[in-house]
Amino acid sequence: MTSYPKLQLYIAGQWRSSKETIPVLNPADETVIGALPVASRADLDDALDAAARGFRIWSRTAPAKRAEVILRAVALIKERSEEIARSITMEHGKPIAQARLEVQRGCEFFEWDAGEAVRSYGRVIPSEPDIRYIVIHQPVGTVAAFSPWNFPMSQPARKIAGAIASGCSIILKAAEETPAGALHIARAFHDAGLPAGVLNLVFGVPADISSYLIPQEQVRLVAFTGSTAVGKHLTEIASRSVTPVLMELGGHAPVIVCDDVDPIRAAELSVSRKARNSGQVCTSPTRFFVHKNIYRSFLDAFVERAKAVRIGDGFDANTDMGPVANHRRVEAIETLVEDARDRGSQILAGGTKPTGKGYFYPLTVAAELPDGARALEVEPFGPLALINPVDSVEEAIERANALPFGLAAYGFTHSAHNAHMLAERIEAGNVSINTLEASVAETPFGGVKESGYGREGGAEGLHHYMTVKNISHRMVL
Ligand code: NAD
Repeated sequence: MTSYPKLQLYIAGQWRSSKETIPVLNPADETVIGALPVASRADLDDALDAAARGFRIWSRTAPAKRAEVILRAVALIKERSEEIARSITMEHGKPIAQARLEVQRGCEFFEWDAGEAVRSYGRVIPSEPDIRYIVIHQPVGTVAAFSPWNFPMSQPARKIAGAIASGCSIILKAAEETPAGALHIARAFHDAGLPAGVLNLVFGVPADISSYLIPQEQVRLVAFTGSTAVGKHLTEIASRSVTPVLMELGGHAPVIVCDDVDPIRAAELSVSRKARNSGQVCTSPTRFFVHKNIYRSFLDAFVERAKAVRIGDGFDANTDMGPVANHRRVEAIETLVEDARDRGSQILAGGTKPTGKGYFYPLTVAAELPDGARALEVEPFGPLALINPVDSVEEAIERANALPFGLAAYGFTHSAHNAHMLAERIEAGNVSINTLEASVAETPFGGVKESGYGREGGAEGLHHYMTVKNISHRMVL
């Protein structure tokens, strides 16, 4: 029997309820599983005060001590991982095996950032003998962070890890549709002895919270993961107070399949990756450009495997792909598929929502989409794969770069020449060859163009959460 946690706000080290609530639904059957507390203005003011107090304590705590608290929280998350994974599957719908992996990945983000903070070295700049120039990194201040619903635990983990490891305080508004992942993280940090006010968790109407928090003088960084449209809006608000932003926004990842690889193997890998999280991943492989010499074999193998992907409840051991997260995603995919069909592209698998309860949509393959098809331009953010033939790698690169996005891009090739061309010329923050993994904790992740600004993870991940200070010290007045 799985129980969903009681949802509460976490402010100044205390758990709070609220009069106003929003229902949280299970996307597999549309039943109400929880009541999301909506933070009031007074709650947000208290969170700001608490974050200011928390910052004073935490920014003066040695990185090694901060790492101890983080690693204690990680140990608690690991102990509770099955409970956390089950609440993720309830609120998000993903297969339980994927929810378990997500919890593990969230822990890796914490472990990596805790280690990086201990090594956030400054430097001494060579100088005249009686003066010393010292560069140090200091935590930026209070972070206002906004995490999305596609990874209820690992997305909040990225933001909380960066802020807390760096010595910042953070007010996180986690996604209203999938709040339990962030709640479990806050519980673990509470139990691990994080000082009150360092981490504050709020929920509510996104625009109300962001428009109130971001202009506050005390907020020194806005960290957001979500759509490009919302990211631009939040960046505009932040620009009025010259507040820096860390933006992880939309992608529309191209996959270039060259004619020197086994098309069947490439198709198998692609289908399994496309089905992950029901395609609701900003790095999901989506625009396939396949060399004409292997196009037919790749397409046939892709379609055959896509048809075999079983959709269902995430707790069912036979389920390969859960529902999409909400009715907006179903409608968005339906609109794109309809448009592709109307323009004469072939829908070779899926393409119709099953009847009955739940936000299910099958893995759908659209092939030979003409220029102008909406799906080629708008990120589907769902289980939709678009497959087109190309005459050459050059043509594929040109088409890959044609959009204003540049987050993840993939290539399949064993040719060193092709691999080099793809790596050098594709405009993206992350290019992966012969693997559809775009990021792990130890590599920097982020976008170019309208896919965002800044990096999370890797040695670069804490840069945004810290400022650089140069100290010039003359030894004698
Ligand atoms: P949306 O753009 O309304 O919301 C996306 C996220 O932004 C949600 O978590 C939401 O809570 C938050 N948000 C929305 N308005 C906000 C505001 N004014 N202030 C602060 N936060 C705000 O769209 P949606 O239907 O929830 O999601 C679909 C789109 O979001 C997709 O097309 C996809 O591009 C994007 N998305 C991207 C990621 C990612 O990992 N980059 C994750 C989830 C969603």
